[in-house]
Amino acid sequence: MTRIKADYHSHTTYSDGKGSVLDNVRAARKKGIMTIAISDHGWGHGFFGLKKEKKDQYFRDIEEARRIFPDMEILKALECNILGEDGALDLSEEEMKEFDLILCGYHFGSRPRGPRDLLFHAMNGLNKHTGLFKKAVIKRNTQALLGAMDHPIDVLTHPGDKGQVDIVPIARKAAEKGIILEINERHNYLDTAQLNQIKDMDLRFIVSSDAHYPDAIGEVEKAYAKVLASGLDLNKIDNLREAQ
Ligand SMILES: [Zn+2]
Ligand SMILES: [Zn+2]
Repeated sequence: MTRIKADYHSHTTYSDGKGSVLDNVRAARKKGIMTIAISDHGWGHGFFGLKKEKKDQYFRDIEEARRIFPDMEILKALECNILGEDGALDLSEEEMKEFDLILCGYHFGSRPRGPRDLLFHAMNGLNKHTGLFKKAVIKRNTQALLGAMDHPIDVLTHPGDKGQVDIVPIARKAAEKGIILEINERHNYLDTAQLNQIKDMDLRFIVSSDAHYPDAIGEVEKAYAKVLASGLDLNKIDNLREAQ
């Protein structure tokens, strides 16, 4: 048994995951996880986003998995990309309506719309490796995530990973908009220090595997350790099993 009853973040071969939709669903079922989101990277990812022309096939695979496992809840999801400091996304609001769940995160691989986005990526890359531009980077990334939350997204994935942020205003806006913050198994952020800053806010969280291969579905030990270290109230996390 894993700690979670629902895994809202998993990737398949439609982006950079190693398993098929059915492989992920089977792995979840085996672990007693009855709700799983198939949430490949959005098409604005330059290297391995879901290809727009494959979207219908993606949905058909999910519908097929629903037929095979009628007792499970299998969500059509997407982890869309924040493209730049204005918080623009690679998915229109019209396109979002086709999905059950919209995750949203910042990734270095998102295709720049122009020199501003390129500079945004470059500064984050440089900051990550050298620590330079810390203040400017935090300001821009925070602005980007705040802007992203003006769109009808459900979950902000790994806030602060790939680019440092000021988590307090982000959490405040998430609370206001009913957007869930993710505690991710594969990425360091949210980390314990961030959780400590925001744990008393009236805010919802999920812990998720961000599995890129089927065996990793439901594995959230590192994420859970961050929760315990911060003392975050477990009742604020939407997808844990009852008894921990
Ligand atoms: Zn991600
Ligand atoms: Zn992901």
